[in-house]
Amino acid sequence: MSEKACTKCHLIVNKGNICPRCKTPTLSDDFSGMVIIFDPEDSAIAKAMNIKEKGRYALKVR
Ligand SMILES: [Zn+2]
Repeated sequence: MSEKACTKCHLIVNKGNICPRCKTPTLSDDFSGMVIIFDPEDSAIAKAMNIKEKGRYALKVR
């Protein structure tokens, strides 16, 4: 089973074709890098990527 990443918020989605976070229907399986955000309040990566909720995110989505 392949995972996909949301082209908008970069959330990694492992089922379905719609992002459960922002409801974007454009998911891409062409992504690279993965970050797991545990504490968005205290994460420089989360701030740089504008992530406000914990979860798994792709660094780059094409
Ligand atoms: Zn999304």
